[in-house]
Amino acid sequence: MTKELTCICCPMGCALTAELEDGKVTNVTGNTCPRGKGYAETELTAPVRSVTTTVITQQGIPVPVKTKTPVPKDKIFDVVRAIKALPVSLPVKMGDVLLVDVCGSGSDIVAARTVENS
Ligand code: SF4
Repeated sequence: MTKELTCICCPMGCALTAELEDGKVTNVTGNTCPRGKGYAETELTAPVRSVTTTVITQQGIPVPVKTKTPVPKDKIFDVVRAIKALPVSLPVKMGDVLLVDVCGSGSDIVAARTVENS
């Protein structure tokens, strides 16, 4: 089986062609660098995504947050729900861990920016 996909690891957006056999990627072409091969393998077997969003703090001021590492694609909606329910109080420093192992994904939710309590 052959699958066409676009690498999203950098703005080049290389058009990849991956060959699969028994659910395993056996060959990748079209990638300009090795990251494309890794992307195709992950995307076709266990796709992951980084999540970035905003939390409204208890002071009513928004704080941008993100997953420290990508999470399984099928957990994204649960992760976003967990982030939205997160009670966050200012001040927050960039890199502060706001939630550990979100939804059992193995990834933490961290503040993406420092926000003072003004
Ligand atoms: S294969 Fe390499 S150069 Fe091409 S989009 Fe992916 S990361 Fe960028």
